[in-house]
Amino acid sequence: MLTNDDIADFLAAAGANPSCGICGQNNWFLNQEDAARTAMILKNSADGSFTIPPAHIPIIWMVCNNCGNLRMHSREVIEQWKAKHRKSSLSVVKQKIRQFTKI
Ligand SMILES: [Zn+2]
Repeated sequence: MLTNDDIADFLAAAGANPSCGICGQNNWFLNQEDAARTAMILKNSADGSFTIPPAHIPIIWMVCNNCGNLRMHSREVIEQWKAKHRKSSLSVVKQKIRQFTKI
């Protein structure tokens, strides 16, 4: 489960620009509800028809409260970053425990 803090920490660590790419403000609504976790990708066929392939992309999405710009980020990339970040935090804790037990 990603929290808003996880997402904010990830975006900061990735060097993402926190400002809206359209209006420049930093005033986002972040939707974490189940229904908002996937993006449907429409497939445009040569005959002009559209279909929705079965595979969907897990995402988090943010809406600029000022201009309505929609911004999406891959949920998987953020979760992978969080897992790696958590591992490194656990390594530090384990290292401290080892140091403590040597005393
Ligand atoms: Zn905006």
